[in-house]
Amino acid sequence: MSIVIIRQDGKIGVWKAALQQAAPEIKVYSYLEDHPKDEIEVALVWKHPSGTLSQYPNLKYIASSGAGVDFIIEDSDIPKDIPITRVVDGFLASDMAEYVIAVIFAYLKNLNTYKIAQTKSIWKPKPYQRISDFTVGILGLGALGQVLANDLVRFGFKTQGWSASKKAIKGVTTYAGNEELSHFLAKTEILVCLLPLTKETRGILNKPLFEQLPKGAHIINVARGGHLVDTDLIEMIDNGHLSGASLDVFHQEPLPPEHPFWQHENINITPHYASVSDTASVVPQIVENYKRCQNNESLLNVVSMVKGY
Ligand code: NDP
Repeated sequence: MSIVIIRQDGKIGVWKAALQQAAPEIKVYSYLEDHPKDEIEVALVWKHPSGTLSQYPNLKYIASSGAGVDFIIEDSDIPKDIPITRVVDGFLASDMAEYVIAVIFAYLKNLNTYKIAQTKSIWKPKPYQRISDFTVGILGLGALGQVLANDLVRFGFKTQGWSASKKAIKGVTTYAGNEELSHFLAKTEILVCLLPLTKETRGILNKPLFEQLPKGAHIINVARGGHLVDTDLIEMIDNGHLSGASLDVFHQEPLPPEHPFWQHENINITPHYASVSDTASVVPQIVENYKRCQNNESLLNVVSMVKGY
C-alpha cells in the first residue's frame, strides 16, 4: 500500500518530506516519478491534471489536501464508488478567519482607497466606519464559517450566517435553506461566501442575490470563483448598489491580465491565498486515514457524494 501525491503547484516535495518524516514506513511517490501504479491505494491530490486518477487500478480513496473537493468531483475520470476525504484543520479555519477579518477592517478603515490615493500622491481623508456600523453575513457555516462567525462575535460584529441545515452558534443569528435566504440577505451589509462549490451553489453570487442586499453592501468571496457571476458583480458595483468586493478566488486562476477585475478600483484581489493547508498540521490526519484504511476502519472527513461536499 502506497500514496501518490498529484498536484501541479510545485509543492510535491514539501508534502512528500512531511509525510515521510511523520510516517517513514509509508511509501510516498510523486506522480511525476516512476512508480508502481498498481501498488498505489491512496491519491493525495490538489487540482490534479484530469485523467491522472484513472491510472491507479487499486485506489481505495482520494484525499484532497485542502478543504475543497469540487475539483475532484468535477473530474469525470475519477474512479467510481471510492470515498473522497478532505481536510478539516484548525489552522485552515483560523487562517481563513484572520484573512476575512483583515479584509473587513481594511474596508471599514478605507485602507485600499488610501493605497490607491498614495500611488497618485493624493491626501484625501474619507470618513471611516466602525464595527458597530455593520452586520456581517456568512454564506456557509461549516468548518471555516463557524470559526469566522465566533471570531466576528468576539470582535463585536453583529453576525449572521446561512447554511443548509440550521445551526446554533452563540451570538450569531442563523438562517437555513433557500426559504430563509432572503431574510438573511436583507440584513447583511458585508457578505462573506464560504460555501463549497456544488451544483446548488455554482453562480449563487449573482444579480438577483445582490439585489436583495442593502444598498452599499460589500462582497467577500473566499470560497470558489465558480460561486460568482463576474459580470453581475461589476454591473452591481458600477450602478452603485454594491460598494465593492474583495476576491481571493476566480473562475480562472491566475486571473488573466485582461480581466476587468484587475482595473476596477472597488475590487480588491488576492491570489487564492486566504488560507492554505499547513503541511505540519494536516499531515497527521492524512497518516491517520492511511492507517484507518489499512485496518479497514472508517475514514475521517469523508465527503458526501450526495451533497457534493
Ligand atoms: P464545510 O463543508 O465544512 O461547510 C460548508 C457549509 O456550507 C456548511 O455549513 C453547509 O451547510 C453549507 N452549504 C453547503 N451547500 C449549501 C447550500 N446549497 N445551501 C446552504 N448552505 C449550504 O466547508 P468548509 O467550511 O471546510 O469550506 C468551505 C469552502 O471554503 C471550501 O469548500 C473551499 O471551497 C473554500 N476554501 C477556500 C480557501 C481559500 O484559500 N480561499 C481555503 C479553504 C477553503 P450544512 O452545515 O448544513 O451542511
